[in-house]
Amino acid sequence: MSHPFQQLFDEQHTHFHQKIKTSSIQKRLKKLKALKTWIKQNEKEICEEIYKDFGKGEEEVLLTEIKPIIDEIKQHTLHLSEWAETKKVSSSVAFWGTRSYIQFEPKGVTLLIAPWNYPFNLCIGPLISAIGAGCTAIIKPSEHTPNTSNLIDKMISELFDSREVKVVQGDVAVSTELLALPFDHIFFTGSPAVGKLVMQAAAKNLTSVTLELGGRNPAIVDETANIKDAAQKIVWGKFINSGQTCIAPNYVLVHETQSDPLKKALINQLNIQFPPVSESLTNIVNSHHFNRLSHLLEVTIKEGGVILHGGKTVKENNFISPTLIEGISENSTLFQEEIFGPILPIITYTSLDQALTLIRTTEKPLALYLFSQSKKNKRSVLSQSSAGTTAINETTIQFAQPHLPFGGVNHSGIGKAHGNFGFLEFSNQRSVLHQRVGLTTLKTIFPPYSNLKRKLIRFITFWV
Ligand code: NAD
Repeated sequence: MSHPFQQLFDEQHTHFHQKIKTSSIQKRLKKLKALKTWIKQNEKEICEEIYKDFGKGEEEVLLTEIKPIIDEIKQHTLHLSEWAETKKVSSSVAFWGTRSYIQFEPKGVTLLIAPWNYPFNLCIGPLISAIGAGCTAIIKPSEHTPNTSNLIDKMISELFDSREVKVVQGDVAVSTELLALPFDHIFFTGSPAVGKLVMQAAAKNLTSVTLELGGRNPAIVDETANIKDAAQKIVWGKFINSGQTCIAPNYVLVHETQSDPLKKALINQLNIQFPPVSESLTNIVNSHHFNRLSHLLEVTIKEGGVILHGGKTVKENNFISPTLIEGISENSTLFQEEIFGPILPIITYTSLDQALTLIRTTEKPLALYLFSQSKKNKRSVLSQSSAGTTAINETTIQFAQPHLPFGGVNHSGIGKAHGNFGFLEFSNQRSVLHQRVGLTTLKTIFPPYSNLKRKLIRFITFWV
């Protein structure tokens, strides 16, 4: 039986080579401008559809789904010409007479697979990089946010020829079918477990991959931290989107001298930013994840964890109130998992070495946060840990800094997104060398090897 998406793939492949590959920067920017206009004109609908999917409020949609996309387009408008410009490289003496440069060529037909937690942002962000680099794209949004996926489908069919960009909706089965095709690049955002499957499928065609995965992100609060400031930022970064954020702190490691003040300050901040009756609270995306998190809470309590704040669950609308947990250790189930919900465990440490050793027992996180006013501690944490991204005295906003690469390391991801880094991910950095015709430096040492040539080769090997 023929592959259900072979025709679409072939059409994009032909169209890429006939039209898209050589499209000018101006044409690419025009498409991005049209995308921006559509988003501006349909901002209300985007907010409504995301709200239908998991009760996410308008302010959070504007800040976390729309603003990063508008910013990404602005970055492209400002810098795409410069990113795409051929870059000359210098030539050493051995290359006298040659001229070399890097030419950025679009990789080709790409597949973008997105998760549900920022359903608009994480579909459209990679698309901007793909268009900027001059690729075509098939987008597979998440099946768990169907209203947003339908809207993205509508937006893309209004703006693009399906031979250039097309949304394919569906679940794991559809995703698996798409992954069997010989794409030129796959940009996957999702869990590490599925990331491994994506890489396996890509290996069959030697397709390059960007894997934007998750992780267990620590937030260290040391003995010098400003506690009120740390609590404000931790609460915001953890509980927006109800903790369903890949870079949300997964657990807090607090110095023993700051433990009680921090707990008080976190409760205080939760009452201010996310009071029990609040429209700012997003629901859990579906009953599967609601049950997973409710079960995790039950297990945590059985294992000796204590609810310091929150812990309320409402099955009817998949709601879990922002919850702080104390009394868990590195052996607790809660510590072992990417929580991906509004539950925040607080673990006390006695020395920074002990905290860093604990962090190194886990897979490398996507984000690591440090709250500190000590230069020495900042240096120690940066040099003795590894993470895809780090923010010091802040949480989560490193994602939105357009000049920083965004991505994980090993288990939390492969490759980087955003701005120039996203452009590079979808580009082949083709190296080009032009040689003169006639006499060249290299020809002087071509075989047969005379004594003089042997001496010359030895000289070139070590000195030129
Ligand atoms: P997921 O891995 O379950 O699904 C992501 C996408 O992959 C979906 O479109 C889904 O249909 C598809 N998929 C699921 N199972 C598949 C399979 N067996 N074969 C092929 N495709 C499959 O992730 P999710 O639950 O949607 O999202 C949560 C995860 O994503 C968390 O681990 C989170 O940390 C991570 N995440 C990472 C980033 C980042 O930028 N690094 C951003 C958001 C979310």
